Amino acid sequence: MSLARKIKEYALDLGYCKAGITTADGFPDYSEDLKSRREMYSFYIDSTRKPLEAANPRNIFPAAKSIVSVAYDYASLSFPEKLLGKIGRIYQARCYMAPPHRINGARSELLKKFLEQNGCRVSPYEHWHPERLVAARAGVSRYGKNNFSYVEGIGSFVVLSSFVVDAELEQDAPTLEVQCPDNCKACMNACPTGAIYEPLKLNPRRCISYNNWWTNNRPGVSCTIPAEIREKMGTRVHGCDVCQEVCPRNQARLKMKLPPDPFLEQIAQDFSLRKMLNMTDDFYAQRVQPLMYNYIKEKKWFQRNAAIALGNTKDPGYIQDLRTAMQDPEDVVRGYSAWALGRIGGSEAKQILELSLSRETSDDARKEIEAALAAA
Ligand code: SF4
Repeated sequence: MSLARKIKEYALDLGYCKAGITTADGFPDYSEDLKSRREMYSFYIDSTRKPLEAANPRNIFPAAKSIVSVAYDYASLSFPEKLLGKIGRIYQARCYMAPPHRINGARSELLKKFLEQNGCRVSPYEHWHPERLVAARAGVSRYGKNNFSYVEGIGSFVVLSSFVVDAELEQDAPTLEVQCPDNCKACMNACPTGAIYEPLKLNPRRCISYNNWWTNNRPGVSCTIPAEIREKMGTRVHGCDVCQEVCPRNQARLKMKLPPDPFLEQIAQDFSLRKMLNMTDDFYAQRVQPLMYNYIKEKKWFQRNAAIALGNTKDPGYIQDLRTAMQDPEDVVRGYSAWALGRIGGSEAKQILELSLSRETSDDARKEIEAALAAA
């Protein structure tokens, strides 16, 4: 059996749903496209994972000859209703950027070890490769107009990863063409913020996912979520699946009756946005971090996102929770709780905002309170 086939079979044995191989040639069109949209993508281009350099794998690993691409189906178990619409499925499934001590990270480590045991040197660099393009060129997936990758018979609820190796491996036939129905615009029409401005073109700055997990003290990224976007975030505190949920190519999977994920069922039992807003360190460690460990490292940003979500319910039943949050030591929590009170509105919310304004010491939070008072 060829090494290429051995690698792909081992990947399937590990639980990946598809594996393929492509050359380590660069992706110049991808680099050009990113550069032409620097205004939207500067946060990504300038990140330490250097995606422009990684678009040509030989820039960072000169011995590169092939790329092994694998997809993991993360929606083979069901997701608790209580978490859907709040936490994106990929995060609930704990499979994206998973550390080695967790099962999905361990799976990736095992594949890497297998490649090494079979004589391949694997690029040790953690740069961001254009995973979706790699996968399409390796015959693993095909694009959707919403920019997601679809694996045949599964849909887009898959996470991709790749391994750049120094071995010349037999390549698979590319599947680069988009396979959406010609006239379908379901994803573009459903996106709450209009982030998908044409097929295969996303403005990340408008995407809810970017806004709820990238705006947390990262170089070159504002921590302020524009009010117009906040209103459209609904109750989503980490990620957004809307453009995948409406896609006709995902309907078969979404309608399947799947067994529950016992770990998620445990988390869901005592998860609530109300608890997240004024969360204890224990709740953060036990109920938030196990799912949402990828991008946000400080409790206060989750509290901010919970405040936005509660404001968007417009439910006066949350006013007392927001009153408590107006005394949080973090000004970002107080500022966004003020916004939420303004969004819910009414005399009680207004009284809390007036009282809070009289004692607020942070300029940022004061501005939020003043704007909320004008809206309440
Ligand atoms: Fe729009 Fe949500 Fe898709 Fe982002 S994830 S493009 S906000 S539908």
